[in-house]
Amino acid sequence: MTDTTKPPRRFAEIDPEQCFDMLIGESWVQASSGETFRCFDPYDDEEWGHVPVASADDVAHAVAAARDAFATWSRIPALARSAVLSRWAQLIDENSETLARLQVHENGKTITEMRAVTGSLRQTADYFGHLALGPIGSTIEPFMPNHEAWTVRQPIGVVAAIAPWNNPLGLLSWKLFPALAAGNTIVVKPSEVTPVSTLFLAKLGLEAGLPAGVLNVVTGAGPTGAALVDSPGIDKIAFTGSTSTGAVIAQRAAARFLRTTLELGGKGAQIVFADADLDRATASLVTGITAGTGQACNAGSRLLVHGSVYDEVIDRLRTLIPEVRIGDPLEPTSAIGPLASRPQYEKVTGYLDLAEEEGNELLVGGRRGEQISGVTTGRFVEPTLYATPDSQSRIRREEIFGPVGAVIRFDDEDEAVRIANESPYGLVAGMWTKDVSRAHRAAKRLESGVVWINTWRAFSTNVPFGGVKHSGIGREIGPDALLEYTETKSVWLGLD
Ligand code: NDP
Repeated sequence: MTDTTKPPRRFAEIDPEQCFDMLIGESWVQASSGETFRCFDPYDDEEWGHVPVASADDVAHAVAAARDAFATWSRIPALARSAVLSRWAQLIDENSETLARLQVHENGKTITEMRAVTGSLRQTADYFGHLALGPIGSTIEPFMPNHEAWTVRQPIGVVAAIAPWNNPLGLLSWKLFPALAAGNTIVVKPSEVTPVSTLFLAKLGLEAGLPAGVLNVVTGAGPTGAALVDSPGIDKIAFTGSTSTGAVIAQRAAARFLRTTLELGGKGAQIVFADADLDRATASLVTGITAGTGQACNAGSRLLVHGSVYDEVIDRLRTLIPEVRIGDPLEPTSAIGPLASRPQYEKVTGYLDLAEEEGNELLVGGRRGEQISGVTTGRFVEPTLYATPDSQSRIRREEIFGPVGAVIRFDDEDEAVRIANESPYGLVAGMWTKDVSRAHRAAKRLESGVVWINTWRAFSTNVPFGGVKHSGIGREIGPDALLEYTETKSVWLGLD
């Protein structure tokens, strides 16, 4: 007889006692030590799945497998590499719901957002599959007489790719597909919070025809990532994560002159000028702080509002923000899921406490956990806004990585740009204005890798993304991304 007292499991298709294997060379394996850790669903607090903790030895085997595979993968015709990426894209499409659900289970991102992410995964695989077929160098007429010169772009070698938990599949795809398209091989270290969706993506890669060793996945926490960074067999590190970990990795890479791409933290400024379309601007301000439950490097977590429209904007936000639906991330009607992990919940609620201690004025939100009506489970925080007139306020300066925004009033364009640029970060920034001249002027002056005008969070696989200042080095996606995974070689020919 079935037990009718227990609610059905939300992820009935996954055995919570399953031992997942990691991928080294041609084998799906457990850690050599036998050590495992457990995944955790942030919505119902349940642990599920056992995942191996890769030791330094396991990492060395994965790097050796990638090194062996490089000899052939880097030399096969680009057409063959492109065909594998195309088949992979197709398999991602066919398995998109499984990928989306796995990630919801791991980090509580909403199913609606995940369906969009799996769509863009497919596009990224396809796009870099096509780029692999493009020109790989140029012919140059040198200044020296009786010589010819040309360049070729060659793969770098073994790439170590380290990804965070907030958008593990999307951010990994920005490394995986350009690296493989260019002929590199790769060892991936997903976050310990989100390893299983990555393992499933790798399984699809093998089904698509990736030869053994071209893609390896080692699971574990920070020490596994550190072992990968320190591995003598790698040639490049592609990292997305916090600025503090990025700084450690950059130092270790510098000692060995390793190539790096670093996508780090952010504290995006959304500027609302007096002439903004307030319907569109305020809707965007809300998604800027709520998308991904605010756990997004591209969050618009500083809201700069011109004094002449300040009161109206705040009134509108006080209406719009409570309408954002908080709930089970598996429900398509939920716009906000729980924070992805216990430490992240503690970090974000710590900032709510700090906001009060600092004396910031609470404008809307501020409740957490069971203080939120209808919430009986999960680590939820309401979308919350504080007025932060003090430029030293930590709520205004630090990346919170939760649905919390700092509102700042400004009086003119110069002041808006100065405040936007006062952050050590420089990943994304945006503005709402109908004045085309101002939009061009301010876009040039904002210290940011990406500037959005009358839009927010616009992405396309063929447009580069990346930061300046403490937000990182290098660009992902777009044509520039392929260049990040190749070396230019200049070849000279002396003529008789
Ligand atoms: P972390 O820096 O803590 O971790 C990122 C990855 O690095 C994880 O896989 C982590 O493993 C691993 N790691 C931790 N310590 C080391 C180490 N010493 N050497 C090598 N690897 C290590 O970041 P989070 O996972 O907390 O991600 C959130 C951060 O990522 C935010 O600051 C956010 O802004 C940034 N981010 C940036 C984006 C961008 O495009 N610029 C996009 C998305 C996020 P484990 O988690 O298992 O400990």
